[in-house]
Amino acid sequence: MRWSNKNSAQYPVPSFQRKAGCWVLSTGYWVLLATVTLLSAAPAAEEKHISVYSPVAIYTLPVLDRSGREYVGLLELLEPLGRVSSQSEGQRWKLRYNAVDAEFVAGKTRAKIHGRNFDFAAPFLIENSRGLVPLASLNALLPRFLGTSANFHESARRLFVGDGGIQISFQLDASNPSRLALNFSAPVNPTISTEPGKLRMAFKRDPVVSPGSQPISFANKVITQASYSEDNGDAELDIAANEPLMANFSNDRRTIVVSAVPPATPPGIGGTQNPAAAPPAATIASGNSHRVLAVVDPAHGGDERGAALTDQLVEKDVTLGFARLLRHELETRGFAVTLLRDGDTSLTLDQRAAAANVARAGIYISLHAVSQGSGARVYTALLPVEGTNKGAFHAWNAAQAPALPVSRIVSAAIVAEMQKSEFPVHASSASLRPLNDVFMPAVAVELAPGEDGIADLTSANYQQRAASAIADAIVSVRDRLGAQQ
Ligand SMILES: [Zn+2]
Repeated sequence: MRWSNKNSAQYPVPSFQRKAGCWVLSTGYWVLLATVTLLSAAPAAEEKHISVYSPVAIYTLPVLDRSGREYVGLLELLEPLGRVSSQSEGQRWKLRYNAVDAEFVAGKTRAKIHGRNFDFAAPFLIENSRGLVPLASLNALLPRFLGTSANFHESARRLFVGDGGIQISFQLDASNPSRLALNFSAPVNPTISTEPGKLRMAFKRDPVVSPGSQPISFANKVITQASYSEDNGDAELDIAANEPLMANFSNDRRTIVVSAVPPATPPGIGGTQNPAAAPPAATIASGNSHRVLAVVDPAHGGDERGAALTDQLVEKDVTLGFARLLRHELETRGFAVTLLRDGDTSLTLDQRAAAANVARAGIYISLHAVSQGSGARVYTALLPVEGTNKGAFHAWNAAQAPALPVSRIVSAAIVAEMQKSEFPVHASSASLRPLNDVFMPAVAVELAPGEDGIADLTSANYQQRAASAIADAIVSVRDRLGAQQ
């Protein structure tokens, strides 16, 4: 419901809390920045899973290791594909899929499917009434039930049922700047990330198939190679280059154009604002060029759930999903992006502001969600009146002041882009945290439902439209983004 601030309640402060939302708007506060906690989430060991691609459903299931073999639940595997039921009687396990009856025995390799014997590569298992089958047998087993072919890439645990998957072709345009168009036979939605010398596309839900067994080399001085790999249910396409790359979708997500990130243009061009308000872009070293770092902050998290949007839906989950989409949209536009949390973790407001300040981000964007109203609200800081804070705390409290003119430009750009995308949107100022505490241009965007009501808040399409508009707006003011020293 609120931005909790357990650490800094050193004296009572007047505050105002919006009824339907989650802001705590305080007119004065103290903050002691004793420790800067840098956020590092150690990646958890990835669980094994299998991805299944069929014309009727795309899904993933956990893979279990038993006696050195990999297994999957047979009922769970068939459930999304047809009508299925099972029955466990002691060591026997019966399954019916559409009109096919099958009977299995725990610990045995031989089963009976539709009246005929079937031999597994490893014993069938029963655990808690679940029937488990070895992955190594799926290519032979599934056609017995489905009546169509199955193509299981066993080492990568990717199972293609019936259809042939999404084909990829490459088209290099070597004119200046060099561009590599990746054409897909169906729309795709990869997660795109960059690292020095490489742009990576991870396909978690798209049934893309290998364009060949060898990496493809290009006779080009910028974009040098494309290589495909697949592992643990996912496929990955890596584009190697000698310059930082960016990617743009076109053709209804059937084409991704990869090109070098254009060099930054000098600040102040084409704008009417005071150039003093537009410091040079804050950059981070990335590859052998410089990109603006955007810090995206999914508000709330952990014990601090944010607003209860419905009985089941809490704000912290909506802000995280929205933040991930925004990260993607910004990355495809050439920004480096840091999410302040990429899981259900607790962060204080001080930690959020400190993380953005330490990173010397070019822009800080906080994301909230609300069940009432429609469209979106964009907030910039309303700084406390001079004199309400004293001494050493003053600088921190008013950290936002020098960047505020640019923050307002960013806010206006977001309003303009969201209006183009037909979001009802309003801009306002509020004395809210942690916007006041960050040195760089900073805005908060609060997403409200659209025409489809509360369901919009979890709609990937709706969030995507909003994220795309915000990212377009950030691009339009890229030259003005900078961290204050
Ligand atoms: Zn909130």
